[in-house]
Amino acid sequence: MRQLKNLRHGFDVPVGHIATTVRKGTKWTEVELGEELELWVCQKGHYGRCRPHFGCKLVGMGQILGHWVGKLKDIPRPLLEIEHNMAARDYNTLKHQLKQAYGSITDDDVVTVLIYLRTS
Ligand SMILES: [Zn+2]
Repeated sequence: MRQLKNLRHGFDVPVGHIATTVRKGTKWTEVELGEELELWVCQKGHYGRCRPHFGCKLVGMGQILGHWVGKLKDIPRPLLEIEHNMAARDYNTLKHQLKQAYGSITDDDVVTVLIYLRTS
């Protein structure tokens, strides 16, 4: 079971809706269609798997529908419009948040957009 962590924000997309999240690099391209995801809010942003006694909170489940890989600046607009963090549906805000999360990011960096259905 994979864990999808949100460090500084929650999951804004309601159950039954399709959502996306943008992650730097290609680690998330390994996921398979239909794979289940645990949705965690992880305020401490620790390394490794989330656990309730770390202060992390399991807020729902999701199912992988697919992914898109390419340069940050080329993310298709329809995928950005369903970002699970509503503030990050704006390109400049998304870029700023990725910079906070990863330390650096440029328009030409490769990112993976994970597409999932929120199931609970
Ligand atoms: Zn955690």
